[in-house]
Amino acid sequence: MGGTKVALALGNAAGELLARDIFPTPQSGDSGRDLDHIAKRARSLAERHEIAWRRIEAAGVSLPGPLDREAGILLNPPNLAGWANAPVGRQLESLLGVPVGIENDANAAVLAEWRFGAGQGANDVVYLTMSTGVGGGIVLGGRLQRGIQSSAGEVGHLPIEWDGECCACGMKGCLEAYIGGAAWSRRLAEQTPADSGVARFAAGAAPTPEHVVAAAREGDAFALGELDRFNHYLAWGIVQLGFVLAPEVVVLGTIPSAAGEALCLEPVRAKVRERLWPALQDTLRIEASGCGDRLPDYAGLSVAIATAQEAAD
Ligand SMILES: [Zn+2]
Repeated sequence: MGGTKVALALGNAAGELLARDIFPTPQSGDSGRDLDHIAKRARSLAERHEIAWRRIEAAGVSLPGPLDREAGILLNPPNLAGWANAPVGRQLESLLGVPVGIENDANAAVLAEWRFGAGQGANDVVYLTMSTGVGGGIVLGGRLQRGIQSSAGEVGHLPIEWDGECCACGMKGCLEAYIGGAAWSRRLAEQTPADSGVARFAAGAAPTPEHVVAAAREGDAFALGELDRFNHYLAWGIVQLGFVLAPEVVVLGTIPSAAGEALCLEPVRAKVRERLWPALQDTLRIEASGCGDRLPDYAGLSVAIATAQEAAD
């Protein structure tokens, strides 16, 4: 579930997606009514695909924002009006008649990449995404690390410059203020030269990281400089994670996935190699998301699988 769209998927433990639906996030201002709408869509999706509801063992929800997983409550989502302190878990359990688990979106994403994506087969996986902000999730020893309010893995707010750029969180010099999509778009609005490829791709609209990637593919000097800066700060964040967590795989979503090997992943790997001990980098893989466009589906499915396992234990 995001601020604009809800992706519904019915799947099984093998990672087969049996049915999918996507629709605008209902925003009536009343989370109870919105959840009722979502639950009806889920039941009718099963019906349309002739999947008997009694076959459904559990549901998993990937939600934006901090939450109390044990209580099943979404605490304070930034983009969902009327959803503060919504008892998502309990309400959906009564609407769907199955155990329901909730996780924040970055935690659900790392579960998805670990089970079905670029982290398959590894025990220690970190996922980093750079969409609007910078989110992260951590699986260590095959277990999701949650911390207080499911906030472990908030890598976006690792300070990388002491007196640096202002961050949306109120701090200064956070990684997110350098590589988050929103922060980068603000910088591009100020700095993009009118005669650059980035301005040409933006075609009069506000320039975004997508325009930078498109212009960099054509060799535009301003775009390549911007990507160089992005790769530098991203590598800096990964080096810190490398020393603290010594993961086997760091999976990168959104911007690095879109930019690809030559423009992002290769330069980031090279920079990380400069600053991480050989023993740690020998075992570290830095990869683009393996779930790609299907990440929202696999995120919910992974939470559902974990919920079914917990219910069975
Ligand atoms: Zn911050």
